[in-house]
Amino acid sequence: MSEPAAGRAFLTNLYPRIVKPHGAAGVPPNLPDYQQARSAFTWEAARALLDGLPGGRGLNIAHEAVDRHALGSRADREALRWIGRAGGQRILTYRDLKAATNRFANALRSLGVQEGDSVFVLAGRIPELYIAVLGGLKAKCVVSPLFSAFGPEPLATRLGIGEGRVLVTTEPLYRRKVAALRPSLPKLEHVILVADEGDAPTEVPGTLDWRQLLEPQSPDFVIPPTAPEDRALLHFTSGTTGRPKGAIHVHEAVVTHHITGRYALDLHDDDIFWCTADPGWVTGTSYGIIAPLTNGVTSVVAEAEFDSATWYGILQRERVTVWYTAPTAIRMMMKLGIDAVRGFDLSSLRFLASVGEPLNPEAVVWGQQAFGRPFHDNWWQTETGGIMIANFVAMDVKPGSMGKPLPGIEAAIVQHNTDGSVTPIDQPMVEGELALKAGWPSMMRGYLNEEERYRKCFIGPWYLTGDLAMCDSDGYYWFVGRADDVIKSSGHLIGPFEVESALMEHPAVAEAGVIGKPDPMAGEIVKAFVALNPGFSPSEALRRELLGHARKRLGAVVAPKEIDFSPGLPRTRSGKIMRRLLKAREFGLPEGDLSTLESDVR
Ligand code: AMP
Repeated sequence: MSEPAAGRAFLTNLYPRIVKPHGAAGVPPNLPDYQQARSAFTWEAARALLDGLPGGRGLNIAHEAVDRHALGSRADREALRWIGRAGGQRILTYRDLKAATNRFANALRSLGVQEGDSVFVLAGRIPELYIAVLGGLKAKCVVSPLFSAFGPEPLATRLGIGEGRVLVTTEPLYRRKVAALRPSLPKLEHVILVADEGDAPTEVPGTLDWRQLLEPQSPDFVIPPTAPEDRALLHFTSGTTGRPKGAIHVHEAVVTHHITGRYALDLHDDDIFWCTADPGWVTGTSYGIIAPLTNGVTSVVAEAEFDSATWYGILQRERVTVWYTAPTAIRMMMKLGIDAVRGFDLSSLRFLASVGEPLNPEAVVWGQQAFGRPFHDNWWQTETGGIMIANFVAMDVKPGSMGKPLPGIEAAIVQHNTDGSVTPIDQPMVEGELALKAGWPSMMRGYLNEEERYRKCFIGPWYLTGDLAMCDSDGYYWFVGRADDVIKSSGHLIGPFEVESALMEHPAVAEAGVIGKPDPMAGEIVKAFVALNPGFSPSEALRRELLGHARKRLGAVVAPKEIDFSPGLPRTRSGKIMRRLLKAREFGLPEGDLSTLESDVR
């Protein structure tokens, strides 16, 4: 796995370091001195920045995000500034958000929903989604936001694994994606539908109307005692094999959300913050809901999907100061050119950050040219619950690097030994697996009902991330690739197994193998290879049919964009598809060790 240090050192010098104006005028950074913050840091001190539930009754994410501000001087500050697809606005102050989330928590109780029950949310970025997540946390339910672009298959799998008892969604999403699944989801008792503002209540059999359910509820709710280790959030993520994994996060995670919001995103009291991620993915929950609110800032929520003019318009009009976005969107903006930015007054922007997939060094530098600030890449994953490695505001940026570990986080590049142990590699720029010393508050506490898969993530004190990376002599981390076969497409993590299974449901498909194919915009796209059953032969019409079938089942984000027919797929002796080989052949790379190859019909 490892390579000689000299082999990769050139990477660190391809682009000049962006030197930060230390001690410059303006907003003083929350983390002015990285080394000093690291050595002084304790999780106890980070925890002390939060209030805890009144009367020493524990720590609840929603109290820290909403009630402690609503009960204090920020009560009338805008918490959520929602911008609808058609340009309409809805503002929720911290006081409003407290009342609305209390109503939802009471509504759950009125339905007999108990602590520990799971509440799923499936909606675009509408205010009710935020209210349901936070209200569910107040009621001490386990909340799981689902991505609204998922097709019925990924939804059924996740609702099934998570044993969803409540689902909050909209009528169109329910009719299109969920209604037909109801018989296969016996645990799903209550479906609550949100109607558009101004529309009549929804009247769909077997469902409840959000407004009718919430209106009679009291705006007061006392959050029950919450132990820091009580379950709070369930986020699904994908592996190479098997079903998606439900990563469990607990209320104590809020300590990481809060401190990383301060350190990695440099959130200050007066900030207008915009995280463009959808709460159906972990970034949209940790940094689209929790971190900005615990830090008491105003969080912009834009319902519309990416469109550069709309986005620049939002940045300008809302006077956004801190912007957290993703490489695919940045690359799309770059493609349209700097002139498209010029017409906008974006002088309010103070800090730009990016996450989710590798951020090309060109994109970091382009940020500087287009917005007068570089994009600050940071790294984390569903399992870590919060940002682990970041380019901090007061730190020089090396374009192409993910930055340095957060205070409180110990990272290493490790090599796997033949006896099953791992050892940190202390030579700079040698590739190995990125590992983090376990024990920070937002670390997942398990994969739901999958103890074995969870245990496999740890060796000794290390949590193994599944990413390959390198660390340079200044302590900056550089992403190399995934150690497994999961695919990152436009920032979305996609498990090849889920896609292969959906393709195999089609009567024409005998076997399917799915890989990520590099793409200049999306990072990777999903590409499938299929072998056909007897009686079917390759044709353009069948290719289109299979693409359509997958799209309908999985949703556009997860479905393959390309399908190639193949007489057979390479398998190991134990019957596993050798995706590595499919990849090597697709890209003309060396085929590597073929000793486990069993069948191979090209
Ligand atoms: P997810 O759990 O969906 O958030 O995906 C996490 C994975 O996304 C990581 O394990 C990485 O493979 C990738 N990722 C996240 N942030 C970055 C980044 N800044 N650079 C490179 N890859 C990233």
